[in-house]
Amino acid sequence: MTSDRGAVSIEFADAPDAGEMREVADGVFWLRLPLPYEPGHVNAYLLRDGDGWTAVDAGLFDEATCAIWRRVQRRLGGQGITTVLATHWHPDHLGAAGWICETFAATLATSESEYLKGLVVQFMPKEEGDALERGFFLSHGLAPDETELWVANGRRFMHDTYRLPPTFKKLTAGQTLAIGGHDLGIFVAGGHSPEEVMLHDAGRGLFFCADQVGPRIAPTMAVQPSDPFGDPLRHFLVGLDTIAAACAPDDLLLPGHEGPFRGFHARADELRAFYAQRCDKVFAACREGPKTANELLASLFRRRPGPIWIGFLIGEALAYANNLVARGLLEREVDKGIVRFSSRP
Ligand SMILES: [Zn+2]
Repeated sequence: MTSDRGAVSIEFADAPDAGEMREVADGVFWLRLPLPYEPGHVNAYLLRDGDGWTAVDAGLFDEATCAIWRRVQRRLGGQGITTVLATHWHPDHLGAAGWICETFAATLATSESEYLKGLVVQFMPKEEGDALERGFFLSHGLAPDETELWVANGRRFMHDTYRLPPTFKKLTAGQTLAIGGHDLGIFVAGGHSPEEVMLHDAGRGLFFCADQVGPRIAPTMAVQPSDPFGDPLRHFLVGLDTIAAACAPDDLLLPGHEGPFRGFHARADELRAFYAQRCDKVFAACREGPKTANELLASLFRRRPGPIWIGFLIGEALAYANNLVARGLLEREVDKGIVRFSSRP
């Protein structure tokens, strides 16, 4: 994109290998952690903090990730990791956080919503979680056999999270954290997760933007079974505006996936256009006749997703449909337990 909004530029031609650290600013290291599913990696960052270190995100709780953290801890020296700042509850970010805290006597820092969501996932009995998912996806038109496949397989990575510590340090929007002699402003945004935490180091021009924005991947957002009327797209767009107001045009963005990049404002424009186009597709499909979220998949995605992904994508279709309902462009109707969306007469 070329305009007075600048352009998106990728900072590095390549990424560090899994487990390797690369210094991206004075005292700030980019660490790659492996994921056994797409996109195959998640980023963590290490910030020098006096004699210790703050880790931003922890990766999944699995053998490969824990082995990397043990090596990193040895290499860091001093007190090693003293704080794990988890940007959000998704297991690829929060998964190993509790294990790091326990193993290295570190403190968990995150927003209250992300901590509580992590606890819900940890403590909700499996049968109750399964029943919630089953009821939700059946009501949105997924066939019973596909629903059972999703319930059995679809959320398997949601449980690769080590138990959370019983205490945490609560981060709130507008707060300032002093890390290694630098002041970092805390920002939170919804949409991708309830209250995702981001950090802005205005002095050094760094913005740790978690999964809120990446240079190429559009962040997933999905209506959650526990919040069926939710409008995550609106929360996400509000989040973009909040970051856009704070971020300088040439700030270096440090995302949760892919690599560091510059040009937040241009990227935000691309994402706004992308989601507007998706809403247009949902609106056009519903003008042809009432549609369930399951039926909307065909108008949004070229191929029908398999059982590991289908629930996420139905949740995404619902994010667009619920947003259109909130804007008064679609109506939500329930007939014999099935939810459909239609254009207003
Ligand atoms: Zn995420």
